[in-house]
Amino acid sequence: MKNMILFGPPGSGKGTQAVKLAEHYNLLHLSTGDMFRYEIKNNTPLGQRAKSYMDKGELVPDEITIEMLKERVERAKDVNGIIFDGFPRTVAQAEALDQMLEEISGPIKALLLLDVPDEEIVKRILLRGETSGRKDDLDEEIIRNRIEVFNRETTPVYDYYDQKNIAFKVDGVGSVDEIFRRICRTLDQL
Ligand code: ADP
Repeated sequence: MKNMILFGPPGSGKGTQAVKLAEHYNLLHLSTGDMFRYEIKNNTPLGQRAKSYMDKGELVPDEITIEMLKERVERAKDVNGIIFDGFPRTVAQAEALDQMLEEISGPIKALLLLDVPDEEIVKRILLRGETSGRKDDLDEEIIRNRIEVFNRETTPVYDYYDQKNIAFKVDGVGSVDEIFRRICRTLDQL
């Protein structure tokens, strides 16, 4: 497996599974959410720009996100492959990703959607909010906005890769290990 996207609504378990997959397949894990939180923690100009969007559960504008990601991908040209977590979240980001990978390394081999129902997501994120220290995990209204943004702006990314016949759905409800095995089974069949 070379480059792949782990896809799914907020709270679907992308971060947890991405760490395990990165280790199993020897991939570099790139999470735009983690990158933004790091920038915010260090109070950088980029962090300051991203914060207001993240706190409301809105997407950070494409040009900011794409530029940040591109810089990280360029730095990673010697790795075995990359697992993208939380990116792309818009079709414009998907197009930009395809273009930068063409210039830098191989194409995306697969997009894996972790399928989790909305109500389960709200429950999971509220629970995570008790310990994550993330402002966007504490308020049910912000969580519902994130789900709405996902359904409106991010779902078309699935169709974008489905048209290339490289989008796959995996049931995202179950134990962490069960879901991990489901993902590996799907990837190993490619
Ligand atoms: P989750 O998927 O659980 O919401 P993330 O850490 O992936 O958590 O994202 C948190 C927030 O960071 C998003 O709600 C959004 O504001 C911002 N963000 C992360 N990735 C992107 C992206 N690719 N494009 C725009 N905004 C992003």
